[in-house]
Amino acid sequence: MENVIIIRFGEIFLKGKNKKHFENLLEKNIKNALSVYECEIEKSHNRFYVAKYDKDIETNLIETLKKVFGIHSVSPAIKIPTDITKVAELIANSLPNVNTFRVTVKRADKTINMTSTEIAGQIGGDILQLRQDLKVDLHNPELVINVDIRENKTSYIYYENVKCYEGMPVGCSGKGMLLLSGGIDSPVAGFRMAKRGMQINGIHFHSYPFTSLQAKQKVIDLGQIISSYCGHFPLFVVPFTKIQQAIHKYCKEDFMITVMRMIMVEISERIAISQNCGALITGESLGQVASQTLESITVTNSRVKNLPILRPLIDMDKTEIIKISKDINAFETSILPYEDCCTVFLPKNPVIKPKLSVAEAEYNKIIDLPQLIDEAINNVEVVKIKNKR
Ligand code: ATP
Ligand code: MG
Repeated sequence: MENVIIIRFGEIFLKGKNKKHFENLLEKNIKNALSVYECEIEKSHNRFYVAKYDKDIETNLIETLKKVFGIHSVSPAIKIPTDITKVAELIANSLPNVNTFRVTVKRADKTINMTSTEIAGQIGGDILQLRQDLKVDLHNPELVINVDIRENKTSYIYYENVKCYEGMPVGCSGKGMLLLSGGIDSPVAGFRMAKRGMQINGIHFHSYPFTSLQAKQKVIDLGQIISSYCGHFPLFVVPFTKIQQAIHKYCKEDFMITVMRMIMVEISERIAISQNCGALITGESLGQVASQTLESITVTNSRVKNLPILRPLIDMDKTEIIKISKDINAFETSILPYEDCCTVFLPKNPVIKPKLSVAEAEYNKIIDLPQLIDEAINNVEVVKIKNKR
């Protein structure tokens, strides 16, 4: 008898010929995630198992596994050599404190000459003999005793099925550059693309001393949270002060944010390409603010020539985004009251439906912009954020 954690795969089940590749990547990510713990990963028949660990760290292992994308669900289980006559005896004295139960059997081992229902009936009957305080309730039991009889003469008994995020193993869908502000939306956007298997790098525009060092630290802290889902997270911090001052000096007030966003994505694309990223990712949601109308998005897109801009939150309401932000433990950090570079030099009435030709004319008013952009890129600071788990 041994404690193990059953790990079930998510969508990679569907991957046909490439399944092996996805499984290997998932295994690597699981091993990386659990590398700080003493345990082993075993693989058998479309599942992984965590084994050879101390029961005391089981909860930590499960919490860590919940953050590994590609896992459908996990269950802490007891592993035994298959022997139907012994199951009841083994579990009768270690059942959680309940009054009613049912037994559910899954039988992959077709050499056993009984149906799953017959086996469940037998085990249930045996338990009742040993524990007369308990009752069977097939429809609404307090406890479901799952018995999984596998092909290799091994059975697993478990009571709990912990749902995970599913998604795809990080690394199977290339790499994206996340435009990370200190707000609520962009960390959620990064989380959602990582969930689809993207490795994530971050870029942050910082306008020191107009924005504080605390504001920058807040973004690093958000990067730390993102890295707990996607492994290491290099953050490129771009000094943006001179460019913002130039925008302020040369552009019409209502177009300042529009032009700022044009330059942000332009710089982001250049850094993304230098890091072999295949996409930019933003936390934009249609119509949320003036810079996120269809017209504004059209203008922003016009400055990015070679990469797609992924906007995973485009159809989401703020309340939906906040729910995910809370779920991934980013919310408390996101709402710390430090200013973002979008909020300094903020025009009172930003244009809501900018015309591309006018936006381009405003952009072109900035003297020496190519040099300012080069200078910003040359002075990027790279913060290497590692997953602490
Ligand atoms: P968030 O909550 O992510 O800050 P927001 O609702 O405040 O978003 P905007 O300020 O318009 O929206 O920003 C839209 C998107 O642009 C952000 O989600 C983010 O991807 C990017 N962005 C904004 N400010 C910055 C910044 N200082 N550095 C990097 N990216 C930024
Ligand atoms: Mg913002």
